[in-house]
Amino acid sequence: MQSRVRKERKPRDPKPEEWLARDLSQGYIADYKPFNFVDGEGVRCSIYVSGCKFACPGCYNKVAQNFHYGTPYTKQLEDTIIKDLGEDYCQGLTLLGGEPFLNTQVCLQLVDRMHAEYGHTKDVWSWTGYRWDELLRDSEDKLELLSKIDILVDGRFELPKKDLTLQFRGSSNQRIIDVQRSLKAGKVVLWDRLVK
Ligand code: SF4
Repeated sequence: MQSRVRKERKPRDPKPEEWLARDLSQGYIADYKPFNFVDGEGVRCSIYVSGCKFACPGCYNKVAQNFHYGTPYTKQLEDTIIKDLGEDYCQGLTLLGGEPFLNTQVCLQLVDRMHAEYGHTKDVWSWTGYRWDELLRDSEDKLELLSKIDILVDGRFELPKKDLTLQFRGSSNQRIIDVQRSLKAGKVVLWDRLVK
């Protein structure tokens, strides 16, 4: 007899290099939000790339799971973002989605240009559905993007662990990681301004 108990749906778990930006990304952007206070520390310019395959139940931005959602990333948008980042009061760039690590072409182009124009006077925060250990075992483009990020919020959104009181995270499995210190130490080092 068929069981009537419905299995709880979970986010997907990719194998290393199973999902690659070169196969999946359409170079689309779901949104761009200049000068916001919620996507990391300080005033930030946030780009929301389109496309994510984790399919977390309760995803905060389900429309952006579609790789064709929104509009193509253009040189004109890039020029606008770079100009906005130049404001003294703007602390840096935030990459969200969708999944930035499945849109590495767009993210690397933007981060590289920001570093070329402003050096490291501006920081980079990124959200990802990948866990830290998964990224380290994945493709070269993901590792390259990781190496250029300052702060990473890692891991799927897990609905049973949802906690809206956490800083910059939706569920308690997610971590705010100091990327540069972690890469140097060879282990996860959490952001030193973590309060909760
Ligand atoms: S990783 Fe983020 S964008 Fe992707 S499905 Fe999960 S919550 Fe949504």
